[in-house]
Amino acid sequence: METKIFPAADPSTPALAARIIRSGGLVAIPTETVYGLGADGLNPEAVAKIFIAKGRPQDNPLILHVTGPEQMDTLCHDIPASACLLAEKFWPGPLTMVLPARDIIPRETTAGLATVALRCPDNVVTREIIRLSGTPIAAPSANLSGKPSTTTAAHVYADHAGRIEAIVDGGPCRVGVESTIIDLTEDRPRLLRPGGITPEQLLDALGDLVVDKAVTAQIDKDTVVKAPGMKYRHYAPQAPVTIVAGSREKAAAYIHRHFEQGDRVLCFHEELPLYAHCDPLAYGDEADAATLSAGLFAALRELDSPTVHHIYARCPVGGGIAYAVQNRLKKAAAFQIVDAEAEA
Ligand code: AMP
Ligand code: MG
Repeated sequence: METKIFPAADPSTPALAARIIRSGGLVAIPTETVYGLGADGLNPEAVAKIFIAKGRPQDNPLILHVTGPEQMDTLCHDIPASACLLAEKFWPGPLTMVLPARDIIPRETTAGLATVALRCPDNVVTREIIRLSGTPIAAPSANLSGKPSTTTAAHVYADHAGRIEAIVDGGPCRVGVESTIIDLTEDRPRLLRPGGITPEQLLDALGDLVVDKAVTAQIDKDTVVKAPGMKYRHYAPQAPVTIVAGSREKAAAYIHRHFEQGDRVLCFHEELPLYAHCDPLAYGDEADAATLSAGLFAALRELDSPTVHHIYARCPVGGGIAYAVQNRLKKAAAFQIVDAEAEA
C-alpha cells in the first residue's frame, strides 16, 4: 500500500482522513503531544490493525481521542465531578483521563479493562477529523512498539511507510512527550504518566494526587499496574543509555573518563562546549524545560543507530514539564543512572 501524506493545512485533509477512519483504515494524526496512529476506536477490526502495525502487546490499551467533554457520557459511566472539572480546565490539551468504560467500547480498545482512557487533543485539524469520522479515534503513539515516540510526520513515515493508509502532516509536535494520564476511578486521583499537564497543575485543580509507582520506578513485567503500558521497555534507542546526574562539571568529568569511540552524549544546549570531542547532541535548553520535552524524542531517534555504542544522557531536575522529561529519559535508560557527584 502507498502511504499518502495529507498536509494538515490542506482544506480537503479532514474529510479524506475521516473517510479512511470510517472505512476501518489507519491514519497517523498530529497532536500537540506526539503523532498518534489512529483508527475507529469502536471498530474492533480497525483497532486490531493498530496493534499489528506497531507490534504492540495486546494487553496495552489505547487512548480514545474525542472532540470534547460532550462525548464523555456516551463512552463512560459514573463520571466523577473531578473529570468534568479537569476537562473544563485542561481540554483540549495533553491530559488523558481514565474513567469507567461503557459496553460500546470494544475490548480490543480497552485491552479487556473495565476502564477507558479519554483525551481531547489540542489540534484543530485532528479534532475536525474526529468530528467528521463520527467516532472516537483510538490512537497510541505512532512509533513502532518500544521505540522513541514520533514527533514529526517524517518519524511516522520512517516507521510505517507502506503499512498505513495515510499520515496527516501537522509539523513538529509542540509538547513532544505523550499526554499526562490520570486515573479517576478510585477514591483518590492517581497520576499514571506525567506529561504536558504537570503534577503541580493537577494538585492545584484537585487538591489531591497520588503518584503511581510506575512513574518513578522500573516495573517488573509480571507486576499488575494501573497503566499496562508503563511496564514495557520504552523510548529506547538500540544502544544502552546511562543518565549522568550531578553538576555540569562533575558530569562532564565522569563522561570524559568513560567515553569511548562510538559513544554519544545527549546533553543540554548550554553544555555543548563541554563535550566538543564527544560527539554531543543537544535536545533543548536546560533553562527552558519545554524545549527539552519538545526535542527529546527526535534526539533519541537520531541516536537510534547500530553505529552508536553507548549514550550518556543529561536529565533535567525539578518539577513541571521537566518531571515528564525525567520519566521518559529514565525509561529510555531502563533506570540506569550514575551520580557523578558520588563517583568523583
Ligand atoms: P500511548 O498511546 O502510546 O501513549 O499509550 C497509551 C497509554 O495509556 C499506555 O501507557 C496505556 O497503558 C495507557 N492506558 C490506556 N487505557 C488505559 C486504561 N483504561 N487504564 C490505564 N491506562 C490506560
Ligand atoms: Mg507509546
